[in-house]
Amino acid sequence: MDHPTYEIVGELSRFDERDSVFARERLVPGSAEERAYHAAHPELVKIDRRIAAFIEGVSQPGESAAQIDTALYSATFDPVAGLALPDVVDGEVASARVEADPAQMAKRIKALARRLGAYDVRIGPLNPAWVYSHRGTPPFFDGRRPNPPHFSGLPAGYRDLRWGDPIEVPHRYAISMAFPQDRDLLRTGGTPFSDFEIGRVYAFSALVATQLATYIRALGWPARAHHLRNYGVLVIPVAVDAGLGELGRCGYLIHRTLGANLRLACVTTDLPLALDPPVDLGIQDYCAKCLKCATTCPSGAIPEGDPVVVRGVRKWRIDPEKCLLYWNHLGSACSICQTICPWSNPLHRAVAPIAMHVPWARRFLVWLDDRVYGARFRAAEVPGWGRWAAEQRSVETPR
Ligand code: SF4
Ligand code: SF4
Repeated sequence: MDHPTYEIVGELSRFDERDSVFARERLVPGSAEERAYHAAHPELVKIDRRIAAFIEGVSQPGESAAQIDTALYSATFDPVAGLALPDVVDGEVASARVEADPAQMAKRIKALARRLGAYDVRIGPLNPAWVYSHRGTPPFFDGRRPNPPHFSGLPAGYRDLRWGDPIEVPHRYAISMAFPQDRDLLRTGGTPFSDFEIGRVYAFSALVATQLATYIRALGWPARAHHLRNYGVLVIPVAVDAGLGELGRCGYLIHRTLGANLRLACVTTDLPLALDPPVDLGIQDYCAKCLKCATTCPSGAIPEGDPVVVRGVRKWRIDPEKCLLYWNHLGSACSICQTICPWSNPLHRAVAPIAMHVPWARRFLVWLDDRVYGARFRAAEVPGWGRWAAEQRSVETPR
């Protein structure tokens, strides 16, 4: 493919990270940032209070049953915050520069990324429209606002990195990486074990991205890692441009063999690299015929209708507030759409060539997926190693 399968129908505009639900849920009530944001967006005050209530709740010391859950979450999500510091995602570039043939260097970078732990790696151009316009999620250290729960103080050397700072990523290329999640753990949805798996994979992907960026800077070229705790770019469209997959109805990247059951990280750089083309896996037509994530989503966040125009791109638009409120209701991430997607199921790997190349067979493949895995979401059992925590919770939680 010489162009990605999403349709550009207007002028692309950059996304302000402050508008993401994850940034809004962290606005400290009464803080200067919260007041400024809601003065500009009074229509969001009500919904943001509901969204923020969950974060405020989990920040409080809880009973031991709740502590068993939050400890599992903290184990995977909190330490990786150290990989988010500005001079860890980015930093000093070696003064001597290695020059190499872009095709050879791309091969080397992909081999290294795989060796570090990425499942799949593709390289694309960095479209400046996919760079966030302003910072909305931690880390930022302006001396007034803390970064709960990840940083409580003001690390030396990090003064004046503020909420609302403009984000600039001047690089030309983006190395996108996919990391698989354990399908059975994710299917325990509504338990701490799906959050554990999500956090585990995010942490691993953050480590790999920072290692790869450090390697490139040591070769004498600028490079910045982008991961859960410090994004400068929208990793999904960047990955689509690199041909790692296509954007699906559920809002996730759909990968040829992993489906939607993955996490992404990337490294942007100016290191000259041969680029991979975008791909057409047939996802746009498959999603038009499938609808499984939309009909299964318990919050109604995934549209059953046609794509709409969002900031210049025609795509399916999920409702992030509905989704996050459902997570808050559950007390953990839901992940149903990631695991219910036929492309995420083991059978699909065998039939992927048909799904990609035989449009008339796609409805049959959805029907087949329903027969093998069920049309509705079925939660998986908590794994053996997690039963202690589950049993402990049932003992300590009054019913
Ligand atoms: S994570 Fe759950 S609530 Fe959110 S869009 Fe997916 S299925 Fe719906
Ligand atoms: S579940 Fe179906 S409609 Fe949803 S993303 Fe997957 S293939 Fe597309």
